[in-house]
Amino acid sequence: MCGSDQAIVIKCSKCSSGVLPEDTENNSRLNLPADAIINLDHGDPTMYESYWRKLGNMCTVMFTGYQSLSYFANPKNLCWFLEPKLEEEIKKLHNVVGNATVEGYHIVVGTGSSQLIQAVLYALSDPLNEANPISVVSATPYYSSYSEVTDFVRSGLYKWAGDAHNFDKDGPYIEMVTSPNNPDGVIREPVVNKAQGMLVHDLAYYWPQYTPITGPADYDIMLFTVSKCTGHAGSRIGWALVRDINVARKMVKFIEINTIGVSKEAQQRAAKILEVISDSCSQTVRPPELDNFFEYGQHLLTERWKKLKDLVEFNELFTLPKFPLQYCNFTGDFTEAHPAFAWMKCEEEVDCEKLFRGHKILTRSGKRFGSDPKYVRISMMSRDEEFDLFVQRLSSIHGIANGN
Ligand code: PMP
Repeated sequence: MCGSDQAIVIKCSKCSSGVLPEDTENNSRLNLPADAIINLDHGDPTMYESYWRKLGNMCTVMFTGYQSLSYFANPKNLCWFLEPKLEEEIKKLHNVVGNATVEGYHIVVGTGSSQLIQAVLYALSDPLNEANPISVVSATPYYSSYSEVTDFVRSGLYKWAGDAHNFDKDGPYIEMVTSPNNPDGVIREPVVNKAQGMLVHDLAYYWPQYTPITGPADYDIMLFTVSKCTGHAGSRIGWALVRDINVARKMVKFIEINTIGVSKEAQQRAAKILEVISDSCSQTVRPPELDNFFEYGQHLLTERWKKLKDLVEFNELFTLPKFPLQYCNFTGDFTEAHPAFAWMKCEEEVDCEKLFRGHKILTRSGKRFGSDPKYVRISMMSRDEEFDLFVQRLSSIHGIANGN
């Protein structure tokens, strides 16, 4: 079907009629000049490109001109814009990986989990009819978008109230629990623990390449995203597993008002990608040319973390968090976490983000996460070339006070 004028083809191979931009579609190497600016500020998951590139046509999805005209994907479903195939593949993948319970949950699809965060804030706060906006908190260092998303449109329903450790107001509140946490990779529990608290578990990174899978999560509201699971951030697909039907209904209503559903093409592509990933984990279904996706990702991240730790160990200026060995039910091994981000601390009194910027490395300052400017968050999910250049530059940065 390559080059057909009757169908839009979305594929991982080198077909010139693909919809991806030329540079990423056709070139695996960026050919960065030695003095290039390396952007490790965003968590852009391009490290996975190498895996998908190898699969060629295996995850091609085709659309004819007469398909997907209707707004509706499944009118009988509570989430009427959720493609049945995506629902099936989400459930299958969670069962294969063992990272979340799906039985007894409603699935709500969103345009990225970013949209679902907004939907859930609305769904939890609207029914309470409070006179004042409900506080939204998360423990520092927290994912920088929570504060931005919460206050962006100055909603009368909810308001950002900062670090969960300092929250001591009575009444209802929403706590965002990110586990493993962005930016520091730590496994988290709720912090406030008051009677009227409502918890949202953001499990974007609870996948085997990042952290040991210690059991199926079964919280009331759980958010996931293909962005961090498979690397397809550009498809903008996230999903929520929601126990309470009324919360799920409200979330669906929010998305109905916000975008009248979620792109069917993106959902079908995501469904195909999730299907291939599940197959890659199966001894019986897996074709010989298909590597286990999570093992591939874990291997890449393990190598990167080793390079980074080896460097930092002999550099008195920086430190990194340490992670415990834990048994992973998915791999059947004791492993450490290999988070998507390095939460690096500068041991001298400097603005670490500025220090890196001076070396043409863009990172995100600890300040954005409600933390100290001595910290930065560095994406570990870039392409190999960018990561290697980063490590090379890092090796030349030493103490500041001692004149280096
Ligand atoms: N939650 C967390 C913790 C994240 O790190 C991200 C992406 N950086 C998101 C949600 C949003 O992901 P997306 O909108 O791409 O699905």
